[in-house]
Amino acid sequence: MPCDGRCFLGGMNENREVPFLTPSHWIDGRAVEGSGPPIDVVNPADESVIASVHEGTAEDVDKAVDAAVAAFPGWSSTSPQERIAVMRRLAEGMQKHSEELAATITLEMGAPISFSRQAQAGFPVASTLAAITAAEQFEWTEVIENSMVIYEPIGVVGAITPWNFPLQQLVTKVVPAMLAGNTVVLKPSEISPLSARMFAEIATEAGLPNGVFNVVQGTGPVVGGAISRHPKIDMISFTGSIRAGKSVSVAASDTVKRVALELGGKAAHIVLPEADLDFAVNRGLAYAWANGGQACGAYVRMLVPEDLQETVVEKLRAAAEEYTVGDPADEATRIGPVASENQRQRVDGYIQRGIDDGATLVVGGPGRPEGFETGAYVRPTIFSDVDPDSVVAQEEIFGPVLVVIPYTDDDHAVEIANGTIYGLNGAITGDEEHAMVIAKRLRVGQVDVNGGEHNFQAPFGGYKQSGNGREMGRAGIEEFLETKVITR
Ligand code: NAD
Repeated sequence: MPCDGRCFLGGMNENREVPFLTPSHWIDGRAVEGSGPPIDVVNPADESVIASVHEGTAEDVDKAVDAAVAAFPGWSSTSPQERIAVMRRLAEGMQKHSEELAATITLEMGAPISFSRQAQAGFPVASTLAAITAAEQFEWTEVIENSMVIYEPIGVVGAITPWNFPLQQLVTKVVPAMLAGNTVVLKPSEISPLSARMFAEIATEAGLPNGVFNVVQGTGPVVGGAISRHPKIDMISFTGSIRAGKSVSVAASDTVKRVALELGGKAAHIVLPEADLDFAVNRGLAYAWANGGQACGAYVRMLVPEDLQETVVEKLRAAAEEYTVGDPADEATRIGPVASENQRQRVDGYIQRGIDDGATLVVGGPGRPEGFETGAYVRPTIFSDVDPDSVVAQEEIFGPVLVVIPYTDDDHAVEIANGTIYGLNGAITGDEEHAMVIAKRLRVGQVDVNGGEHNFQAPFGGYKQSGNGREMGRAGIEEFLETKVITR
């Protein structure tokens, strides 16, 4: 039988007939027994327990930090070329194990397997190779007249990641951090913790010295809090919700450590009057509903000229029929369950809120789709005539819910697009010259004009409450560096 990731993680547990992931943590190059209570990892498609990890404690964090501190002098004094060589082997290892990684991520958070292969397992390889290119091009020293500017690693980086792209979010932090010469203590999401452990094993296989990368499993307040406060951790790189990001910032402030935050989004996709509407609708829906809408950059607000709203809505209704909801293990499934029962209830609550607030329901609605009695399934939903100030147009839903908002002219579209607390990204479909004028007016970190292919070399991050850091590209390496000036 081919390995779906369970064999990678140590086989089946005798009593529970599920893989019991123990030892759960990864410290100083080896798997380490956890002391806290078990946290079940639940397959959101059928509510079965697929594994358990031990909840870490502050003492487990101390052990991981000690390992990272001890590994720092050796790792930070290697040459960039040596670190690049290890990361290249790491990319090869992820590629070699991509099928197990994709299957495991599908099991732990419900992404459809075809999407998992492409994005959940594929993007991390592409991102690692892109980070290597950025490191190869990086000038580690500069001379400015009589001064030498040296870029040095910060030290120990604490990384905290969410469940929606568990491996990709991890890679975009820890690979640039390690390329820059730092050592890392990671806490993955307790909802999708398995791929991080697999990554640790693959990294060790790739020749990463012990202690450079460590994983402590557990919950946000306990393990995430201990990492954020830790006096020997020099920087926190966090991806997740605004709520948790604020807690991390507060906890980190006592030790004045650098905090890089990648938080939520509420992207507007502006469809310009001259746009090819079929193209706009198809790409808009694809980017709204990919990964079940559980993407910080999902195009969740579609802004359309008011006189075209009816036509666009009819096209959306037809396009939505192509999105089959189903078992994420099925190759044909385009939308699986959301990641957890909690998330299902949250998304359902927002769908009901949209109805209560008077938005027009185009497709979907609250409750599980027909034929699904269990599992974290929601009905992919589209609302039209949505008030830009209403809750469904302002708050991050993180599920397959698209809101269509009519606008009158360019100024109005820009005002709506910029009218949330978020500023992660946006999209525009229409004449390129027209789109470029609008793109420059958006208060967001990245704008997609007419569906340019994703550029893994480009920096990624948010304006406003979407965060304060940049991952990937040159900026993604700089994020993990201190600047020293020696003047003679
Ligand atoms: P979350 O904020 O609940 O959790 C993220 C991580 O933070 C988890 O590991 C969690 O255990 C930990 N955490 C929670 N409370 C904490 C605390 N008080 N102290 C320290 N750590 C804590 O987010 P989630 O539900 O896992 O993920 C969804 C969120 O992530 C969405 O808001 C989404 O937009 C955001 N996200 C942002 C990006 C980006 O690049 N900007 C990418 C993906 C996801």
